[in-house]
Amino acid sequence: MISVEEARNNILSALSSVSTETISLHTASGRVLAEDIMARRTQPPSDMSAMDGYAVKISDLTKIPVTLTVIGEAPAGGSYDATLQSGQAVRIFTGGPVPNGADTIVIQENTSRDGDSVTIEEGTEKGRFIRKAGIDFKEGGKGLSAGKTLTPRDIGLLAAMNIPWVTVRRKPVIALLSTGDELVRPGEPVGPNQIISSNALLVSAMVEMAGGMPIDLGIAQDNEQSLRHMAEGAKSADLLVTLGGASVGDHDLVQTVLGKEGLNIDFWRIAMRPGKPLMFGDLNGTPMLGMPGNPVSSVVCSYIFLYPAIDALSGRSPRKTLVSPAILSHDIKENDQREDYQRAKIIGEKDGLPLVELFSNQDSSLLSALSAANCFLKRAPFAPALKKGSQVSIIPLDEGYPRC
Ligand code: AMP
Ligand code: MG
Repeated sequence: MISVEEARNNILSALSSVSTETISLHTASGRVLAEDIMARRTQPPSDMSAMDGYAVKISDLTKIPVTLTVIGEAPAGGSYDATLQSGQAVRIFTGGPVPNGADTIVIQENTSRDGDSVTIEEGTEKGRFIRKAGIDFKEGGKGLSAGKTLTPRDIGLLAAMNIPWVTVRRKPVIALLSTGDELVRPGEPVGPNQIISSNALLVSAMVEMAGGMPIDLGIAQDNEQSLRHMAEGAKSADLLVTLGGASVGDHDLVQTVLGKEGLNIDFWRIAMRPGKPLMFGDLNGTPMLGMPGNPVSSVVCSYIFLYPAIDALSGRSPRKTLVSPAILSHDIKENDQREDYQRAKIIGEKDGLPLVELFSNQDSSLLSALSAANCFLKRAPFAPALKKGSQVSIIPLDEGYPRC
């Protein structure tokens, strides 16, 4: 068995980023930039007023109040083109270009207007309320770097830089293959001892959340022919994720069958719970992550390994699972040699930290507890027993997109 950290590193070092595509900025939120972006214009393009008021010379304001002659207007998008002389003011509006000769803005609230005259009633300082040309960004300057996941705020920045198209990484295609004679898809006829396949839909939703493009290859039966045939569907994918059949039972065929098809195993079995039989390898050029079939294992393995794998394929630095401090609401037992991810719920707050309670049944098949959980309690190998009120580490689940 290898450690969680070692497994994660092996996966990350085996993956490289997928190819690129150029898309409209309209659809770019959440996508990963494939190249550095340089501003295509300077912002603001010239010195501009940050307020409604009057553009004046500071040298005219040595004595307050002072009355100046209003010689024109500078609205946003317009301009006052002559040069301001001593004793003059230009009426200016937020976003209006500061006329030549003016070096400060007096806000409207500190003035009184009478026809062509304005009386300045409060002093100010040079440069006040002037946004200098280029203080936001300059043409040719770097705006964003390759590898950045575009947030809505980044979209605003790129729009302002006059970038209508961006080159991003394609969404990595993650092929999901469920395995098991007992499985039927939701809505299909179901026999007495069968169960509904939940994992593919569950992991598919997680893949989407992480910025990947899931494709469901369906359910392979626990026989060589079915598994071999259905795994062929992964040929064009960036990563094949098998769900189930990864363990040591007679019906756990993933390793043996795909081994004959050219699967090279990098590692199998990790010192963690759930998720111990996780395997990683390469199936004729397609990386493969083989997850155990229990739904909780799928979720934990997706958080710990699949999310960073999608990051690596997407060309961004792989997230570390977000771990934060919390307080135990009850005693817990010592842990064994495996890193443990226990389903837990934040039930309140203590000393400014979340107060957590473990679900009493930690069976890794329990979807109801998994759905009701809002965090995993993470326990290190050989962690000692702890009393109520002790500090522990949790992985919050509801953020959707945990990052370090
Ligand atoms: P396996 O890893 O194939 O030994 O499966 C472990 C447990 O997870 C078994 O009880 C399976 O029935 C269950 N299981 C496997 N695949 C799925 C799936 N796609 N959806 C829900 N449960 C599954
Ligand atoms: Mg199975």
